[in-house]
Amino acid sequence: MRYLLVSDIHSNREALEAVTEDAAGKYDRVLCLGDVVGYGADPNAVTAWARHHADITIRGNHDRACVGLEDLEWFNPVAKEAALWTMQALTGENTAWLRELPKGPRAVDDFHIVHGSPLDEDEYMVTTDDAVQSFAYVESPLIFFGHTHVQGGFMWRNADIERIDPMPLQASEMRLQLAPDAIYFINPGSVGQPRDADPRAAYALYFPEESCVIYRRLKYDVAGAQASIRRAGLPGVLADRLTWGR
Ligand code: ZN
Repeated sequence: MRYLLVSDIHSNREALEAVTEDAAGKYDRVLCLGDVVGYGADPNAVTAWARHHADITIRGNHDRACVGLEDLEWFNPVAKEAALWTMQALTGENTAWLRELPKGPRAVDDFHIVHGSPLDEDEYMVTTDDAVQSFAYVESPLIFFGHTHVQGGFMWRNADIERIDPMPLQASEMRLQLAPDAIYFINPGSVGQPRDADPRAAYALYFPEESCVIYRRLKYDVAGAQASIRRAGLPGVLADRLTWGR
C-alpha cells in the first residue's frame, strides 16, 4: 500500500491540481488531514475532489467553521470573512459532506492521522516543546498531522526530540527513512497555503513497506489562484500571502 498525504488544501484548486498531477501513479490511497476549505476561491472543486478521491478525510477547524459548526468569534477577521464567503459558496451536497467529517485522531493500518495534535484537533504543534507534550499521547510510532502549514515534523528517539525542517528552496524532494526505534510526527505541509517561507505546494507520500516518507514541493499556478481569490472578492491579503508562502 502506498499513501498520498495531503493537508490544508484551503480551497486552492490550482495547487491541488498540480499536486495530484505530480503524485499520479505513485499512490494507492489518499488521506486528507483537514482544512479542505477556507481562505481560497474554489471550495466546491476541492471538496468534490476529496469526496471522490480521499479514502479518509478528517476535519480541520476551517471545515467546521465553513459549515456552521464553529463559533466564528475565535477567528481573525480575514479568516472569518473567508469562512462566511465559503459558507454561501458551498453547494448543499458539499456542505453536508463537510459537516459529517470525522474528528482526528483516526487510526489507519498501524499509524494515525490528526489535524492538530493527538490530544486536540485544534492544537498547533509548531515547536519541539509543543511536540514533546503530545508524544505522551501517541498510540502508534507514526502520526501524520497538519494545521501549522509547515512541512516537516518531529522525531523522538532515545528521549531526545529533533525537528524535521522543511527542505531547502532549491530541492523538490526530501526522503525520510523511518528508524524502527523512533516516534515520528510528520507534517506533509500545506497544499494550498504554505506558511514555511516556501510558496510551492506541499504534500507527502508514505511507503510502509519501505518505512519511508517522501516530502514533495512543486510550483503551481500561483497567479491563477490569486486571480480567483481577487475575483471572488475575498480579502486581498489571502492572495498576496501565496506569493511568499507565509
Ligand atoms: Zn489550515
